[in-house]
Amino acid sequence: MIIAIDGPAASGKGTLGKRLAKHYGYRHLDTGVIYRAVAKAMLDAGADLNDEMLAVSAALELDPENFGNPALKTQAVGDAASVVSAIPGVREVLLSFQRRFAEDSPGAVLDGRDIGTVICPDADVKIFVVADPVVRARRRTLEAKARGEVADEAAVLADILRRDERDKNRATAPLKPAADAYLLDNSNLDIEGGVRAAIDIVEAVRAGRQRV
Ligand code: C5P
Repeated sequence: MIIAIDGPAASGKGTLGKRLAKHYGYRHLDTGVIYRAVAKAMLDAGADLNDEMLAVSAALELDPENFGNPALKTQAVGDAASVVSAIPGVREVLLSFQRRFAEDSPGAVLDGRDIGTVICPDADVKIFVVADPVVRARRRTLEAKARGEVADEAAVLADILRRDERDKNRATAPLKPAADAYLLDNSNLDIEGGVRAAIDIVEAVRAGRQRV
């Protein structure tokens, strides 16, 4: 089974995808990390983030061993990721890696922005996660502070809104729910509540029931 989790609020601390994968004994891929790794390589090289040739070669040279690097989590890298991820050549290079990951047994949970629409359009369950941007800014600020970074909530909110706009309006693989995705608004849910709601959706789909 493949579970696709997309949406502006799909990632974050204690990611829903990771928890769902654990619950079902599946493998998990936070695809944002891949774009963040390309962005970090570009930042480290002092490259122009819009340079397609350099970004594509950074994508070709990615080493999954580095996906756990905590330096990938910063706001600056996330913001740069939303720039490099709009480059079609970068998305093309990363597509087959993500598809291969999804198709290996026993099953997989992938979270990102275009899993249900582009990477795995035939995913068994698609969940589109949204949350009030003000709530997301509060969460991200707390996460950044917990990592020891300086974070100002108003600046984080501005960054979130700018990044969402960029993700929704890019020409290639824009952020939007798949027609058959289930909407999950976790504005008023804590991590546990979000995980339970997602499991309910998966179980409802598994049982062949239509969720109302
Ligand atoms: O989810 P995360 O904040 O790690 O993603 C960083 C950026 O990477 C997003 O703002 C988005 O621009 C890009 N991204 C993407 N497609 C994905 C995952 C992330 O374009 N599947």
